[in-house]
Amino acid sequence: MTLIKSISGIRGTIGGAPSENLTPLDVVKFTTAYARLIKDKNSGKRITIVVGRDARLSGSMVESLVEGTLLGSGADVINVGLCTTPGTEMAVITHKADGGIIITASHNPREWNALKLLNERGEFLDDAEGRMVLAMAEDNDYNYPTIDDIGKVILREDFNKRHIEQVLALPLVDVEAVRKRKFKVVVDAVNSVGGIVIPALLRELGCEVVELNCEPTGEFAHNPEPLPENLTQISEVIRREGADLGIVVDPDVDRLAFVMENGEMFVEEYTLVAVADYVLRHTKGNTVSNLSSSRALSDITARYEGCSYAAAAVGEVNVVKKMKDTKAVIGGEGNGGVIYPELHYGRDALVGVALFLTYFAGLDMTMSELRKTYPSYYASKNKIELTPEIDVDKILSEIKSRYSGEKVNDIDGVKIDFEHNWVHLRKSNTEPIIRIYTEARSMDEADSLAKRFISEIEQIYKA
Ligand code: MG
Repeated sequence: MTLIKSISGIRGTIGGAPSENLTPLDVVKFTTAYARLIKDKNSGKRITIVVGRDARLSGSMVESLVEGTLLGSGADVINVGLCTTPGTEMAVITHKADGGIIITASHNPREWNALKLLNERGEFLDDAEGRMVLAMAEDNDYNYPTIDDIGKVILREDFNKRHIEQVLALPLVDVEAVRKRKFKVVVDAVNSVGGIVIPALLRELGCEVVELNCEPTGEFAHNPEPLPENLTQISEVIRREGADLGIVVDPDVDRLAFVMENGEMFVEEYTLVAVADYVLRHTKGNTVSNLSSSRALSDITARYEGCSYAAAAVGEVNVVKKMKDTKAVIGGEGNGGVIYPELHYGRDALVGVALFLTYFAGLDMTMSELRKTYPSYYASKNKIELTPEIDVDKILSEIKSRYSGEKVNDIDGVKIDFEHNWVHLRKSNTEPIIRIYTEARSMDEADSLAKRFISEIEQIYKA
């Protein structure tokens, strides 16, 4: 039973008491606050908001509430129905709308849902705007418009087909080259909207598609986070079918992971690495990922003359900001999130698939052979549970000063880059924990680096 209010939206479990869960009352409150923000930004003029949702079980219920509240708040609505997160973002851009709401709890289990809030560029609200929505949601001093000013639904359309067309029209996507290869691809879309769009995209690219969990029923066939432990089924099917590769997406299709022809994971961290490798071959420029992502992206970027890598704080908004600041040509997050600004500034699994398959079509090698062309890193993800009275900031600043002779980045927690490995320590905003991410040249090395920092942190707060 949870309700998490943050600057990037509101997320919670369905049912139970208002303010403690994502109940209809909470949906209405937040949607009203969002409509107020967008109206204020447009000095009260008539606004248009795009609404899309993933296939989770509560999606249609929440969609009705969001749509009704927007209309009652005086906003016109373009409802794209069952749509991915990147598709809804593209619908905002394409229709020149004033904003958008995506109804999805991303990789969270079936009882969760959330509202992700977009600006007029189809990007997530920034920190300041997110805070304004939070404040407005607590403010009941608001009059809804009267009968002459309520909104109307100006369009209901399926945007997925247009999104696919936009992806295929990208100059670096070579549809004919991919078609010639007639790839056999197994898709696991965990029974959400990816089950519609990914097979459709692959068929446009001339692939033979084997569908696994591609019915958008919202009954997730396994834990929806695309991590190896949740993906045993697709490995078996790839081997049995003799497929060239497997594709896994999360319920709102902004995360993408590949599985190799031998059934092993290409590893989520390497989705962005491979796509960036292809993009940099054709477009010299900079790359960006977040501090917790693999060093492999920085290594690959260094292979291209005049190209440089920069790290952003964790969170898509931060990555996008850094990409704009550094004029990056490709970026994203190690969790399988590919952001290709040529189309839009949002993590987009469809873009990732189309760029990757174009690259792969031009290579005469298998997925596992391709994987060997990249530096091999192993990540270990740990956390320390603390008690609320422990001053986490003090611990982090102590670590920072102890390692001041090393390469330290403190834009988001403390990241220390050693010669052959790194550690990233971050505090959680919602729980008394420190997350400890490490990456090294072997799993043993990554684990022992994590252990070393866990005991160092324990020494500091027990001292
Ligand atoms: Mg997602």
